[in-house]
Amino acid sequence: MSSRTPMIAGNWKMHKSGTQAIEAAERLKTLVKAASGVDIMIAPTFTALFQVGQVLKGSPIALGAQNMHWEQQGAFTGEISADMLVDAGCSQVIIGHSERRQYFGETDETVNRKIKAALQAKLTPVFCIGETESQRLAGETFSVLDKQVRNGLKDFVFSDLGNLVVAYEPVWAIGTGQTATREQAQEAHENIRSLLETLFNKDLASSTRILYGGSVKPDNVRALMEMPDVDGALVGGASLDPDTFSKLVFFNEN
Ligand code: PEP
Repeated sequence: MSSRTPMIAGNWKMHKSGTQAIEAAERLKTLVKAASGVDIMIAPTFTALFQVGQVLKGSPIALGAQNMHWEQQGAFTGEISADMLVDAGCSQVIIGHSERRQYFGETDETVNRKIKAALQAKLTPVFCIGETESQRLAGETFSVLDKQVRNGLKDFVFSDLGNLVVAYEPVWAIGTGQTATREQAQEAHENIRSLLETLFNKDLASSTRILYGGSVKPDNVRALMEMPDVDGALVGGASLDPDTFSKLVFFNEN
């Protein structure tokens, strides 16, 4: 059993109107009131952040954003800075999600800049990495993860990264219903942790939480969470319904 506090995070992607987001946050707040020993985060759309943040006040649920820009301000139409996220009530931000890498030109270099800016603004970055199906089939999983971690965390020293959370999200498992086996997740997480030790040090490697993401559901969360290097879950589809998501928060009781 590791000393890392488990974390269950929900990525609402481009779902829910403001009203729906508030309702879901209110329901979730009630459902997880008794949760202990687990960190919880939800990441609504930008337009719902402030309102959801108001609902979450006084609850153990942290507010996260799904993306950010690395500059503090300026002529960057359509973008949001780390300070703006803090101002809206966020304490965390998802960076480098595979949908951003696939559809919006996110690269390891922009991920690296965003992590730097997030840390500077005292936001916890949830740094996403993961291989595509063709990369896995070609036996490239670990070299892809290696490259994403090295480049995403380039020029950091260990003391910068106390807050970092890593999310291993195999692209082939996201939104497909095809969850990685717990052995596949463990193998990848172990690999990532040992790379963190090589790049930084043992303390950072053993304190950094590594979440698994990819079709996590109430019926598979416990098995995944039993693996020694799986410290939590980043959840898309199953985070949209507060009743389902709360079952993930209480993964020990499933
Ligand atoms: C995600 O988008 O981060 C994710 C893991 O989605 P899903 O749970 O729907 O596979």
